[in-house]
Amino acid sequence: MKPDQPTPRCDATRTETLPSPLLPGAMLGVLGGGQLGAMFAMAARQMGYRVTVMSDTADVPAQRHADRFVQVDYSDIARLSHVASEIDAVTFEFENVPAEAGRAMAAVTRVHPSPDVLSTTQDRGREKAFLAEHGFDTTPNRLVTTAAEFQQAVADLGLPGVVKTATFGYDGRGQVKLTTPADVDAAWQTLQADRLVYEAWVDFAMEVSVVVARSADRSVAAFAPSLNLHANHILDVASCPAPLPHEVAERAERVACSLAEKLDLIGVACVEFFVTRDHRLLVNEIAPRPHNSGHITIESAATSQFEQQVRAVCGLPLGSTRALAPAAMANLLGDLWRDGEPDWGAALAVPGVRLHLYGKASARPGRKMGHLTACGLTVEEAIRAVTEARRRAGPAS
Ligand code: AMP
Repeated sequence: MKPDQPTPRCDATRTETLPSPLLPGAMLGVLGGGQLGAMFAMAARQMGYRVTVMSDTADVPAQRHADRFVQVDYSDIARLSHVASEIDAVTFEFENVPAEAGRAMAAVTRVHPSPDVLSTTQDRGREKAFLAEHGFDTTPNRLVTTAAEFQQAVADLGLPGVVKTATFGYDGRGQVKLTTPADVDAAWQTLQADRLVYEAWVDFAMEVSVVVARSADRSVAAFAPSLNLHANHILDVASCPAPLPHEVAERAERVACSLAEKLDLIGVACVEFFVTRDHRLLVNEIAPRPHNSGHITIESAATSQFEQQVRAVCGLPLGSTRALAPAAMANLLGDLWRDGEPDWGAALAVPGVRLHLYGKASARPGRKMGHLTACGLTVEEAIRAVTEARRRAGPAS
């Protein structure tokens, strides 16, 4: 378990005047109305802030927790800019916000993270270029814009590999694994995108992620890495602490803090790593917002990732990221509703298990409907509790 939290780091090289903190009572805005927006709104309102949720769809999870809900198309720049002018600071629950919208809002209010950070992280090609420019280790990769470049990338990096669309890919969507030369043409036809990234396949030992926050006051703090297990490309179970030597866990936190500083991030980000068998840490992806793997912090850390987002965006001191107990989180996907409402009574009979449901109206297979968390004396005990609770809740497979 992570020892007591060191004082958050401050970047002492900066001399610019920092904006005064936004105090409780201020109106915070979040673009996006899903569960990440909902949990941000809950944390903000608990701290006495008011929250405006902006979403292009109605009946979204965050709406129930908002002081004000605005349904707005993300390409309606004039309307977004008008709504933003009535908000003290805007943040995001997803990164695929048109850069123009971010800039228009930034012209009238504080926007954290900045449109530049969104632009870097919403395109895998730009993200990889940023990582290379700043000397962060990542998977060997090439940006591909033509069929010939694709063939060359495969020749340079070899097979197996994985090709990913530069934009709008998530939970394994927009990517194809390649094992033979014949797969190259097929993948090019399937993905049909202008910009792709080809990556060598990494035979990693495990996948971990670090949630890091950087406040508008320039302090930085990272949570301990969590171990992430996926099923069908979607996060299935996250647990903390990850089974890493102390030195590797600390290095992952340092890399995440350094990335936040180099990006000039203000807000929360999640840095996903592949840990190789010789304990190198390869950055796979950066999400400039709270992350599914960080939900565990609601129960397992002194401050949750959502409270940390509020503090960061408002320029308040960051909270302690000290782990309170080993913990695990299991996602509840729509598949669990196959035979009707899951048996929550049976799930909650498992000692120590906490239920989070996002209030989504329809349960489609693969859709994130909620999650379960448990703390334990050991991480194994916590993992057993959440997986057993989910088994009891769900339909017999
Ligand atoms: P991503 O959308 O980039 O996070 O990829 C989704 C998942 O695919 C990751 O969590 C990994 O399990 C797997 N994956 C992606 N890229 C690679 C790679 N270069 N080598 C091995 N596995 C990968």
